[in-house]
Amino acid sequence: MSVTVFNPRIDDAAVANTIASTPTVTALNEASSAQSPVNKAATKKVFVTTQGCQMNVYDSGKMLDVLGDSHGMEVTHDIDEADVLLMNTCSIREKAQEKVFSELGRWRKLKEKRPDLVIGVGGCVASQEGDNIQKRAPYVDMVFGPQTLHRLPELYDQSNEQREIAPKNRIGTIDVSFPSIEKFDFLPEPRVEGYKAFVSIMEGCSKYCSFCVVPYTRGEELSRPLDDVLAEIDSLAEQGVREINLLGQNVNGYRGEKDDGSICRFAELLHYVSHVDGVERIRYTTSHPLEFTDDIIDAYAQLPELVSHLHLPVQSGSNAILAAMKRNHTIDVYINQINKLKAIRPDIHLSSDFIIGFPGETEQDFQDTLNLAKELNFDHSYSFIYSKRPGTPAAELPDDVSFKTKKERLAEFQKVIIDSTLAKTHEMVGTTTRVLVEQVANRHPDYLIGTADNTRTVMFPYDVDKMDELLGKIVSVRVTDFVSPHMVKGELIEMLA
Ligand code: SF4
Repeated sequence: MSVTVFNPRIDDAAVANTIASTPTVTALNEASSAQSPVNKAATKKVFVTTQGCQMNVYDSGKMLDVLGDSHGMEVTHDIDEADVLLMNTCSIREKAQEKVFSELGRWRKLKEKRPDLVIGVGGCVASQEGDNIQKRAPYVDMVFGPQTLHRLPELYDQSNEQREIAPKNRIGTIDVSFPSIEKFDFLPEPRVEGYKAFVSIMEGCSKYCSFCVVPYTRGEELSRPLDDVLAEIDSLAEQGVREINLLGQNVNGYRGEKDDGSICRFAELLHYVSHVDGVERIRYTTSHPLEFTDDIIDAYAQLPELVSHLHLPVQSGSNAILAAMKRNHTIDVYINQINKLKAIRPDIHLSSDFIIGFPGETEQDFQDTLNLAKELNFDHSYSFIYSKRPGTPAAELPDDVSFKTKKERLAEFQKVIIDSTLAKTHEMVGTTTRVLVEQVANRHPDYLIGTADNTRTVMFPYDVDKMDELLGKIVSVRVTDFVSPHMVKGELIEMLA
């Protein structure tokens, strides 16, 4: 069995929004479950909740994959019928730990009614808290980090053994170590339904921005070897995937080892991926300006597969705040990179991440951020009020911007971004756009829907006889109507690939 998670949201790991929901999962393949050696009557069901960034959504899919592969477990969206509950946590948001323990309190009640229920906590809070989780919540059976999720089957077996041997004195099973990048060697072959897939190419981050917990919870940057990445993409493309989204906390810092021991950098990887048969579109998330090198910008001139959309987090428009954040670049560097890219791809759509109200942010610093947003005219962006993350250097800084001021600044900033998003969507009317056709619209079966380069959903009427020909293809659509800030309607012009 294999499960793959799809979620089109692009987020910076640093300021990722809490999704806090069960990830979308593919239905089980009847054929594969029929062949499973596992007795159907004994099949266990697993329920997962996911908080945080795209990496966590990807990891949740892999947790389901490993338990499906090793124990024949099926995915359920109904917590009441689950035998195993997994919580994939995120420590980016404020009071993350408390939110985890309060959710665990609810799960405890379920376990009181069903003592056989197995509860696991993974992700960044698990990594930070370690055995503290089981001290505070002794009914938790398994604690694992982002780098040890592949050991879930082992942890699950150990936890069941403990339950049999000493049901009253269980200590649970914990593994929050950082065992290099071995996790990928133990994950089942990727399988998909649909035309888009995420491929994790590196783990962790070594940038140590002063506000961010990722280097402490996911460890330092480690890249997967080039051949492993390409083998996974090959396999996905053979199964019909047309769009690959390369994933990593600091994805453009990729430095994967080649067969001959030399190092493949991110721009070179983009070239390799573009040559995989069947891959028509490439995206990546999330990038750091320090690693957005000229060879990556040049790739936009050379590779039509690279979408005309770039998510490049900047966090602030003030050099003083960037220095306090330890971002190690200036606004001029960022603007220069964007201008170079625009010279190559005038139609590039930009998005970014911003933290509003960082310690020491003056009114002038905030105005600089607003001005940057207006100058670069971002297509859309994610923006959040700063709040302390325990254990980070910024947590030691005096948080001298009042919450009221932070809220007012955020509202003002978001208005600029929302206006820009709306204007950009309206501007699409009358233009043609490239769309990956994905499915028949649920509520409007006379329409097919797909995604444009700039992540807008595009719907267009189609000839039913041509449906199979169109699904999974890149087509050109002339946009005729604005539907919503993230959706437009149009008419099919031609099939492109
Ligand atoms: S680049 Fe900075 S914000 Fe992004 S994950 Fe690394 S440390 Fe966190």
